[in-house]
Amino acid sequence: MTRFVSFAVVLLISAFASFALAAPDLKALIVDGQNNHDWRNTTPVLKAGLETSGRFKVDVATSPTNGQDMSKFAPKFSDYDAVVSNYNGDPWSKDTQQALVEYVKGGGGLVIVHAANNSFGDWKEYNEMIGLGGWGGRNEKSGPYVRFKDGKFVRDTSPGGGGSHGAQHPFQVVIRDGEHPVTKGMPKEWLHVQDELYDRLRGPAENMTILATSYADPAQGGSGEHEPMIFTVDFGKGRVFHTPMGHSPEAMRCVGFIVTLQRGAEWAATGKVKEEKLPDDFPTADKTSSRN
Ligand code: ZN
Repeated sequence: MTRFVSFAVVLLISAFASFALAAPDLKALIVDGQNNHDWRNTTPVLKAGLETSGRFKVDVATSPTNGQDMSKFAPKFSDYDAVVSNYNGDPWSKDTQQALVEYVKGGGGLVIVHAANNSFGDWKEYNEMIGLGGWGGRNEKSGPYVRFKDGKFVRDTSPGGGGSHGAQHPFQVVIRDGEHPVTKGMPKEWLHVQDELYDRLRGPAENMTILATSYADPAQGGSGEHEPMIFTVDFGKGRVFHTPMGHSPEAMRCVGFIVTLQRGAEWAATGKVKEEKLPDDFPTADKTSSRN
């Protein structure tokens, strides 16, 4: 009898342990509510992408709509391991801005997706955190363009607007730093599904590490430059992960985008990525791959 009880206890403990291992141990907060993009349909794709990693439990903080009173919009960033911005809209209150800055400075993780880098053109620390941004009044006063030329990254301070893109099309993402936890093991080139290829982004670009670029082909209306497509920024004790990809729900269903988001968010939250193996359906240099 005693032996049976101990056996049952062992079973219970191991069942609990395997449950504990499988349970997500990180918390992410997606911020949305205003965007010139389809945030109502992109947030669920971002949420599902993060949750299927098995690492994240995800909440969503939705702001008042454009033009409404923003003074009470105050997500508790400090409750989370990573904050994911799917927001491009009205300025937040000074307190909420300060809360995000303190959160990242203190070691929090921030994830910037596509048009989130259009937001807050006049907010100095936000631009320091995101490294590069587009539109929102950005120009040479915002900082340089940053491109990959002749085997190295160069800062281009020539005058001009920040942010543009050509026609949507599938394009290759070229890994420039394959040792980083976010890009480790990825094929040197992988084909992203049809998306907007942001080019001519500008910003302070300090403490920035560019992990991948994409060629903005003039034949598609692009800049003719190799533009940053996956990058990170160190800000205080915090980590920022930034991808300009992700114009639409379809663009976010690219397996390359999903894995980049999962790894980027985990890296922003912890500085590491546990699962190093790529899924079997990862895109190759000449073949896109999407999930429904
Ligand atoms: Zn877009």
